[in-house]
Amino acid sequence: MSGNFLALAQPGVQQLSPYVPGKPVDELARELDLDPASIVKLASNENPLGASPKALEAIRDELAELTRYPDGNGFALKSLLAERCGVELSQVTLGNGSNDILELVARAYLAPGLNAVFSEHAFAVYPIATQAVGADAHVVPAKDWGHDLPAMLAAIDANTRVVFIANPNNPTGTWFDAQALDDFLQDVPEHVLVVLDEAYIEYAEGSDLPDGLDFLAAYPNLLVSRTFSKAYGLASLRVGYGLSTAVVADVLNRVRQPFNVNSFALAAACAALGDDAYLDESRRLNEAGMQQLEAGFRELGLSWIASKGNFICVDLGRDAAPVFQGLLREGVIVRPVANYGMPNHLRVTIGLPAENSRFLEALSKVLARG
Ligand SMILES: *Cc1c(COP(=O)(O)O)cnc(C)c1O
Repeated sequence: MSGNFLALAQPGVQQLSPYVPGKPVDELARELDLDPASIVKLASNENPLGASPKALEAIRDELAELTRYPDGNGFALKSLLAERCGVELSQVTLGNGSNDILELVARAYLAPGLNAVFSEHAFAVYPIATQAVGADAHVVPAKDWGHDLPAMLAAIDANTRVVFIANPNNPTGTWFDAQALDDFLQDVPEHVLVVLDEAYIEYAEGSDLPDGLDFLAAYPNLLVSRTFSKAYGLASLRVGYGLSTAVVADVLNRVRQPFNVNSFALAAACAALGDDAYLDESRRLNEAGMQQLEAGFRELGLSWIASKGNFICVDLGRDAAPVFQGLLREGVIVRPVANYGMPNHLRVTIGLPAENSRFLEALSKVLARG
């Protein structure tokens, strides 16, 4: 007798939907018989600048060591991060993308009967990480598309072990300021680990977004997660990190895959940290592109959600799915966010100026068709 291996999966997994990534360029090229080079992809919050030359060089240098396991302790990268972030090496956890950090937290601190609190319209990985370990997801309604921190506080109960908050949030781009974060952290019970997901923090420099690191010393139940996938332009390599107390880092280290970050990712991340010019250019490009898109939306009479990330959600005022399809036929890939409870929005990653123009022209054309 054969088992029903869907019904046999633990209940949290049965209720999950797989993560839906941005449509790959090659896939659209195959489907529509288009030249991949003619396709613009603004769907995965990737850095349009291309990788840092220093990172590329570091990867080439690393090729000779292909047969060797990576440094499972990531000493070089952890040292650089500790120095840069003003923490001890023992407070740094490296991850196969910051996604890995989120999963390590879930594996270490969540289980059936326990729960994680996060917001409506928050990053899709929070429910996946939570339900994958059989824990309950307590989803708190958003306020003006952003995190309602007081409501999230109220949703915490005796079985809550983790709160996931993203600043800025993906896909909405919304953010909270230092006062709001401090008020929140002050009131979160000590038994709850707050995961402050700062995947886009490098883009928010000079704004009223708080730097999570400023709160680490005061709040031992805080973990700040960051990534090299966005402003550092290394999404393909999968490398991110968590900063926490040494105790939390030790716990995460116990459930970590022994070699969770590969040698190329380690080497490239070290090099990227030393390329300030690249980071500056990423920020500049993002700021200019954000203005370009906002101006374009204004011209088209569309509203949007103000964003501090490298992406922006435009409100089409109607079902966005046909517009998404129309854009695909124009060779422009953006991200539908109906699965985030936002059926009228499309999320657009800030691209190069020419890519942004291509998108705006295509959008204008698609909308004119009605
Ligand atoms: C992109 C993103 C991440 C992580 O990406 P990794 O590539 O796994 O580092 C984490 N959180 C949010 C909110 C993101 O948008």
